[in-house]
Amino acid sequence: MANPSLLILAGDGIGPEVMAEVKKIIGWFGTRRGVTFDVSEDLVGGCAYDAHGTPLTDATMAKAQEVDAVLLGAVGGPKYDSLDFSVKPERGLLRLRKEMDLYANLRPAQCFDALADFSSLKKDVVAGLDIMIVRELTSGVYFGEPRGIFTEGNERVGINTQRYTESEIARVSRSAFELARKRNNKVCSMEKANVMESGVLWRQVVQEVHDREYPDVELSHMYADAGAMQLTRWPKQFDVIVTDNLFGDLLSDLAAMLTGSLGMLPSASLGAPMANGRPKALYEPVHGSAPDIAGQGKANPIACILSFAMALRYSFDMGEDATRVEKAVEKVLADGLRTADLMGPEGGSPVSTSAMGDAIIAA
Ligand code: ATP
Ligand code: MG
Repeated sequence: MANPSLLILAGDGIGPEVMAEVKKIIGWFGTRRGVTFDVSEDLVGGCAYDAHGTPLTDATMAKAQEVDAVLLGAVGGPKYDSLDFSVKPERGLLRLRKEMDLYANLRPAQCFDALADFSSLKKDVVAGLDIMIVRELTSGVYFGEPRGIFTEGNERVGINTQRYTESEIARVSRSAFELARKRNNKVCSMEKANVMESGVLWRQVVQEVHDREYPDVELSHMYADAGAMQLTRWPKQFDVIVTDNLFGDLLSDLAAMLTGSLGMLPSASLGAPMANGRPKALYEPVHGSAPDIAGQGKANPIACILSFAMALRYSFDMGEDATRVEKAVEKVLADGLRTADLMGPEGGSPVSTSAMGDAIIAA
């Protein structure tokens, strides 16, 4: 069987710094576990613009379509702020998402016990929390037509349209049900079927896909406003949540911050199944290029490392190895190791990006 293939696009700012730690872990898998990844590396974002005059070349795009998974660091930085919109670093990432048609955005909210004090919620509400929000990423109110600012009579009117087709709802709900089968077999779907037609259709289609293809998964429905309330009241009642683009935007940020620092949060964006049965996939930390700390060895590599763990689980069928990486992260945190972003106002002595990576490997 061919080796699993991975395209690394480290990008800008702290991207290359946090990615260096992932590369060490990939090396560890080769020497200690006998798992060799076919890794190729390329440019995306500002560094690609510097080299080629575009934030993503056609060749890189083609490569991304071929590999089992893409792992991305971060793009952008103040150096590129004045660039024309068409060549901005972020456009490289948007092109990847669009051309790979990555319609399911997975954002886990996972609370490591050692960091439970970081949450704004009570410790027992978040300790051990491990939920996954699946956000529809390519449709809904962000894309629906008509949209724009028009003149009506003697005033302006701003219009956006929430629009979902049956097939768009069905495919993202399949992503959620597939995930649930790899986790705790439980999905909660959120919409506003009480006030929105798209919500009514959403609820129907999710239920139909469930009854037809995933009757073994436990499915519930909740209005998104009630969902927001329940997420802060008792988040551990959920496992997988599936929702549309707009509600997912809000709910995934909310859920993410139940657990602490931006430097801890991984994500995956999945598309249609490829010939090997696994979805097209791009994994990346939630955080950006963090220009304020770039080049100083201060960045927390855990978000990027956990993104790689997600790749192991969802693209490479290496769930046990994903857990191995996550447990190592848990251990170093329990041992008290902290990068600067994980220190409270009382301070302490933070470890560097590479010291954190080394400790995770040792663990
Ligand atoms: P973008 O527009 O690229 O999303 P942003 O300004 O919204 O960028 P980040 O670049 O993620 O957000 O940075 C926000 C803050 O969080 C910064 O102060 C940054 O230093 C900090 N930060 C982000 N990622 C990390 C990390 N991995 N480790 C430590 N601090 C981080
Ligand atoms: Mg941002």
